[in-house]
Amino acid sequence: MRELIVMKFGGTSVADAERIKRAARRIVDKREQGHRVVAVLSARGKTTDELISMAEEVSDAPDPREMDMLLSTGERISCALCAMAINDLGHRAISLTGSQAGIVTDESHTKALILDVRAERIQAALEEDSIVLVAGFQGVSENARNVTTLGRGGSDTSAVAVAAALGARECEIYTDVAGVYSADPRIVPDARKLATVSFEEMLEMAASGAGVLQLRAVEYARNHGVRIHCRSSFDEQPGTVVLAEGETMEQPLITAVTHSDKEARITLTGVPDAPGAAARIFGALAQANVNVDMIVQNEPVSAGGQAEISFTVPREDLRVARTALEPLTGEAFANMTTHEQMGKVSIIGAGMRSHPGVAAKVFSVLAREGVNIDMISTSPIKISCVIDRDSVELAVQALHSAFELAGDGTDIAEEPFK
Ligand code: ADP
Ligand code: ASP
Ligand code: MG
Repeated sequence: MRELIVMKFGGTSVADAERIKRAARRIVDKREQGHRVVAVLSARGKTTDELISMAEEVSDAPDPREMDMLLSTGERISCALCAMAINDLGHRAISLTGSQAGIVTDESHTKALILDVRAERIQAALEEDSIVLVAGFQGVSENARNVTTLGRGGSDTSAVAVAAALGARECEIYTDVAGVYSADPRIVPDARKLATVSFEEMLEMAASGAGVLQLRAVEYARNHGVRIHCRSSFDEQPGTVVLAEGETMEQPLITAVTHSDKEARITLTGVPDAPGAAARIFGALAQANVNVDMIVQNEPVSAGGQAEISFTVPREDLRVARTALEPLTGEAFANMTTHEQMGKVSIIGAGMRSHPGVAAKVFSVLAREGVNIDMISTSPIKISCVIDRDSVELAVQALHSAFELAGDGTDIAEEPFK
């Protein structure tokens, strides 16, 4: 049986006609090497952002179901165009929506979770010797049969889920950088490309802002034993392979510096110092499907005093979070304030676990740069600091240099960034 490969092309890699033809050529090359090929495509260039702006032009709070109907169109366009280009190269190709491809999700619009991939239709097309193009980022909800989308960057997860369902040897994620780097190469030009990275570190990196792979894609790959190879769509060089536990050779002290400039902070004051207050607050947020990240609460110092809780949410969830919390004013807390322009910088490394003093070094580097730390959280292999959005670039560059993570420059992608 010929080996099956799943290839995923991101937005920049299918941004215009020329690039779609280039992706088509690359898919056909793989087919001509004797593989069976399924390709998962993202929407072209900034299409998803443009669709979101279109929705915001007609509504202050777009209905989530309709938002998903709208957003799912971007990926369908790429797939249909790429199928046409492949046909012109003399190969048979068929494009499928997420729903047609059997990607079944829960009902949570705009950030749906994949529950199952019923891949019969993909299998049947492969049996007929077609190249199959699957629209990324989308599925169909299990009960209501509505179109759903998987959250920003969700085509990575579509690709991994399809690879798992088909038992593919590898899921290749083709993107506009040559792999996973020691920091975002747009901010740190001398960042080093990592030949391999462990699932453990990649999960922390994706969770703390390294958007090169969507967090859920990394989780799904680990849970289903899928090998991810993240690489450039502009050249043939090997990129970064995400390795399972036990496959990794070395454990450097620090592997990467990651960042996010899309955070918002909510502070609740006058929280009763009694059991149940936090449960009510975070219960309401969970109900509204808001992803809460860092949480800080302090026990009131004075007797009978009231507590303060601060936490961060993605900026795009701030409006929904506020709406979910407002009805609890006067009961679960007295007052709510929000800060929209927050960012976060993190350092990640499996070797940190057994080395004291890393946190102290992070804080002194940030202090030297005059960056004020708002909130701190740690895991055994990560230290994250919430800071002002405006300080994020400076903080990333300073930490990357202080921990000596730079490469020699030979690994940077040839192609200019988008
Ligand atoms: P695609 O459209 O192919 O899915 P994305 O824009 O989602 O591409 O992800 C690739 C981008 O991720 C890169 O252009 C880069 O700016 C960014 N990025 C952030 N952190 C990292 C990192 N540590 N390594 C590589 N790229 C990173
Ligand atoms: N097009 C979607 C986005 O821009 C999904 C993806 O590209 O992975 O987020
Ligand atoms: Mg992406």
